[in-house]
Amino acid sequence: MSRLVGRTALVTGSSRGIGRAIAVRLAREGALVAVHYSANEAAAQETVARIEKDGGHGFTVRAELGVPGDVHELFLGLEQGLKERTGSTTLDILVNNAGAASSAGTAPEDVTPEEFDRFFAVNAKAPFFILQRALPQIPEGGRVINISSGLTRVSNPEQAAYAMTKGAIEQLTLHLARQLAPRDITINSVAPGITDNGSAVFDIPEAVEQMAQLSAFKRVGQAGDVADVVTFLATDEARWITGAFIDATGGTLLG
Ligand code: NDP
Repeated sequence: MSRLVGRTALVTGSSRGIGRAIAVRLAREGALVAVHYSANEAAAQETVARIEKDGGHGFTVRAELGVPGDVHELFLGLEQGLKERTGSTTLDILVNNAGAASSAGTAPEDVTPEEFDRFFAVNAKAPFFILQRALPQIPEGGRVINISSGLTRVSNPEQAAYAMTKGAIEQLTLHLARQLAPRDITINSVAPGITDNGSAVFDIPEAVEQMAQLSAFKRVGQAGDVADVVTFLATDEARWITGAFIDATGGTLLG
């Protein structure tokens, strides 16, 4: 399909995992995609290679998020890449996907102030200021999609600090929705459940089997399961959805 031809997109953290799947799908629909990464340049280039293999267009942008000057560095690379390819810095689609997490979790009594601050800096503060910086460049009909987590709806003490950051990004979605609506820009949160992001735990069959039981479908999510939802929200067909929490957990929250 080609529902996003002529659009530009930034997907933070798209060198791997869910972000990569989102970048590949947006490009498949015709968008020019800025593939953002922090450390893993080879992986980001592999994302662009996959985009180009499908006949799409993308370029890499490096910036470590959660550190001073992060948004400035991100937009230097983003604007240069967009200008070279389109002649302007218009950004139609912003996907705040990059996230810091501790997969094993940390008991609340063991969370350090440093870990807490890092989670908030990467998962909540960076998306806020990326959006603030991007807004003048997002045209009418633009799309903002924030990646949250099903953990804002189920209790898991080991993930308390991480889940607090996802609660914060859901608040960003809710409160900005009213501000952006007059410009016909939608903003939504998408909450994945346990999703195979290629990390080592997904190579352990017993662990995967256990995680699969959490979903009503009795399997772990694939990155593409989440990416398809995000891609829909980026299209014109999703124009009537804003300020929403979209459950993309495969029924994990059904109880
Ligand atoms: P991965 O751990 O597979 O990938 C993380 C991505 O974010 C990478 O591209 C990484 O770049 C980038 N990144 C991480 N930290 C930083 C940073 N400080 N600055 C810049 N970039 C950074 O992530 P997932 O695919 O698992 O998760 C994607 C999103 O989905 C996250 O927001 C996560 O919280 C959320 N989520 C994931 C779930 C899951 O089960 N996988 C469940 C619920 C929510 P680099 O490669 O350069 O390190």
